[in-house]
Amino acid sequence: MIRDRFERPLGALRISVTDRCNLRCRYCMPAASYRWLPTDSLLTFDEVERVARAFVELGVRKIRLTGGEPLLRPGLPDLVARLARLPGLADLALTTNGTRLAEAAERLRAAGLHRLTISLDTLDDAAMRALTRHGSPVDVRAGLAAAAAAGFAGTKLNTVVMRDTNLDQLEGIVRLAAAHRIEPRFIEYMDVGGALEWEPGQVVPGAEIVARLAAAFGGAERLSRGEDPHAPARRWRLGDGTVIGVVTSTTEPFCGACDRSRLTADGRWFRCLYAPSGTDLRALLRGGADDVELRRVLRQGWAAREDRGAELRVGVPDRGALVPLTRLRADPHLEMHVRGG
Ligand code: SAM
Ligand code: SF4
Ligand code: SF4
Repeated sequence: MIRDRFERPLGALRISVTDRCNLRCRYCMPAASYRWLPTDSLLTFDEVERVARAFVELGVRKIRLTGGEPLLRPGLPDLVARLARLPGLADLALTTNGTRLAEAAERLRAAGLHRLTISLDTLDDAAMRALTRHGSPVDVRAGLAAAAAAGFAGTKLNTVVMRDTNLDQLEGIVRLAAAHRIEPRFIEYMDVGGALEWEPGQVVPGAEIVARLAAAFGGAERLSRGEDPHAPARRWRLGDGTVIGVVTSTTEPFCGACDRSRLTADGRWFRCLYAPSGTDLRALLRGGADDVELRRVLRQGWAAREDRGAELRVGVPDRGALVPLTRLRADPHLEMHVRGG
């Protein structure tokens, strides 16, 4: 097992398969226009598979496909099928905004995808339109139903909590998730990449989220981390038996247990969500490097890792958005929708 400078193992990889998205969530892509990655810069499925295989050979056991909106990548089930066949990979998951899941769930399941995480921040149609510009909760609910019908188990629901936007939605989301037997994950609003409107007053600390839900559902009991000590969510059982996860990336970061890194759709490898730069694996692949060289670069990169971006942000005075728009335009790799959430 390869460990970084803080003894954290190389365990999980998030692969962004596209930087494009059909929504414009205000906490992720609030600007009017974007500089997109050129189409010919995207890794081919052969290249993604090759990089993923190298990671798995070095010890990665969990891969999550993300984006942008991963369901916009043409031929995605083909990539899923290739990755699902990698010997040694224990968990292959995908994070989606759910708006196009109804038509894709069955093909993804047939291709061998293990698990889904579906993002939904509000059950109110007008509020969702205001938050995402184009989304409707009706489509996402259809996606939830299609996921269950296709046989997916262990589905999670991601909700980013913003004080003036969706604090009134938490109870409803818990009830919706319980009705579908899926686990809701409440995520603190982070000042990452494209979160240009981020301000501390809009963050709802995980402790407050739990206290509100405990009051509504008759208490909350903290659960142990279970079999995965690297999982970002802390889990709670509410008084009615519903289990929820809370991801306190902003107020109580968990960098000390972070075994994750990220690959962008054009092959940039980032060892932290907050890292200013990453390694250009596409240049390596297209420059003719063999698998031994590829694994050497990954091994060296991980061994040198000392990132703990979210922890370092905690002490920043007058904390605001991480990166100004001018820098995002100069380097789109700094965007959350490019490096993959
Ligand atoms: N488009 C897909 C989706 O929305 O599920 C996958 C990519 S999205 C970047 C992955 C996750 O990041 C989503 O659950 C989204 O809510 C979360 N996210 C994006 N910006 C965030 C922010 N500023 N703070 C916290 N979570 C954020
Ligand atoms: Fe798109 Fe996901 Fe970002 Fe929303 S959070 S804009 S759905 S990439
Ligand atoms: Fe991991 Fe970086 Fe997130 Fe910390 S900020 S949990 S090191 S990705």
